[in-house]
Amino acid sequence: MKFKTVIEPFKIYATQSIPLLTSEERTRALRDAGYNLFALDADRVTIDLLTDSGTGAMSSRQWAAMMDADESYAGSRSFHDFADCVRDITGFSEIIPTHQGRAAEKILFATLLNAGDVVPNNTHFDTTRANIEYQGAVAVDLVRKEGLDPAVEAPFKGDMDVEALKACIAEHGKERIPLVMMTITNNSGGGQPVSLENLRQVSAICRESGIPFFLDACRFAENAWFIREREEGQSGRTPKEIAKDVFALADGCTMSAKKDGLANMGGFLAMNDKELARQCRNLLILTEGFPTYGGLAGRDLAAVAQGLKEVLDEEYLRYRIGSTAYVGNSLTEAGVPIVRPPGGHAVYIDAKALLPHIPPHQYPAQALATALYLSGGVRGCEIGSVMFGKKSPDGGEIPAPMELVRLAIPRRTYTQSHMDYVIEVILEVVKRAETLQGLRIVEEAPWLRHFTARFEPVRRTSTRA
Ligand SMILES: *Cc1c(COP(=O)(O)O)cnc(C)c1O
Repeated sequence: MKFKTVIEPFKIYATQSIPLLTSEERTRALRDAGYNLFALDADRVTIDLLTDSGTGAMSSRQWAAMMDADESYAGSRSFHDFADCVRDITGFSEIIPTHQGRAAEKILFATLLNAGDVVPNNTHFDTTRANIEYQGAVAVDLVRKEGLDPAVEAPFKGDMDVEALKACIAEHGKERIPLVMMTITNNSGGGQPVSLENLRQVSAICRESGIPFFLDACRFAENAWFIREREEGQSGRTPKEIAKDVFALADGCTMSAKKDGLANMGGFLAMNDKELARQCRNLLILTEGFPTYGGLAGRDLAAVAQGLKEVLDEEYLRYRIGSTAYVGNSLTEAGVPIVRPPGGHAVYIDAKALLPHIPPHQYPAQALATALYLSGGVRGCEIGSVMFGKKSPDGGEIPAPMELVRLAIPRRTYTQSHMDYVIEVILEVVKRAETLQGLRIVEEAPWLRHFTARFEPVRRTSTRA
């Protein structure tokens, strides 16, 4: 290409103003929120990078499709458009709409799992892990070891360690492993992609053992782009061809359409096994709704169907992955430790490397996330011991393997100047990193505590008056 600037491949058609706050307003808001960024009202946030889930801008074509949707209870045209579109990309025959990704997980796991079962994954996402544990089963993370080292540069750090998978199957027996999952891209492991080659290997192991293989496919299009850019022999292919190859290796998938569905709400469960699908639909009727809408309005189904077409567009994906890399590479050039290389949907700052003076039980990534908010109203998300710390038998806490602050970039929502501002805020905080202090939890829930926990700063009595 002639020019190096990757421009947003869209122009802005409707705008929303964003809140610009004083430092005092932010300090007060954070204190009221118990130092939990999930508890902040959005009107207290200037640039919201809490999540890329359902927070993107829809296209004019998606809005148009919503206006023309069919709200019939059973067998609506919007359902058939949606199911055709999902079938076209995934190749799976049974398409079950759900209101979001975790509903698909809940239904699949409630149908397949028994207490004591084991579910391997490269890295389970928080809702996936929680839904497995809720069934009394065990969620095992088997990402290759490079995936746990933020500094290592490797093209496919989301790959599963296939030897570890074989060992896991040998240890527990295939009877105790009702399915193997792979998360593409690996959200909790830095948004790192999974290679087609690795998916082939995992698929082959599963087929040999007779274990169903499911994808957690939330970012299948971003993953397809990485395969095209980084994997040998894939460069001339379209993202859709690659995505189809990926889905063909699996027996089914769970999907949050709030990610690569480019929609604000929606998800689905898809598979080839008709009998399993029948059982899942029975549960769907109990908890989500009739099988042709599954907790969604017809207009939501229409938005997802159109979004799934747009997400595989090459210019969109070039911009999407390029703009995330722009933020990540700018931080690397400025010496900020991040998970390398930058992921697809997010940049992950390595708080363990940046704040060695804050021990894991004082949540360095939470400390950094709150500091970014106080400095410039930037809201990120802790992915560390608050989210993934485990209780140890002695009442203490086993820390998570990594302490990351995820800056997730909503799709088609912010411009490059917004991102330049974010970079400036981060560099301002990094300059005074050694003055940041840890936090302690004063209130927490038994599951997914990161959503509702309240914190208090830990005062450093020895160095401060
Ligand atoms: C978001 C996400 C989910 C859950 O989807 P929701 O729509 O938020 O319920 C599951 N897995 C991964 C990898 C995700 O990113």
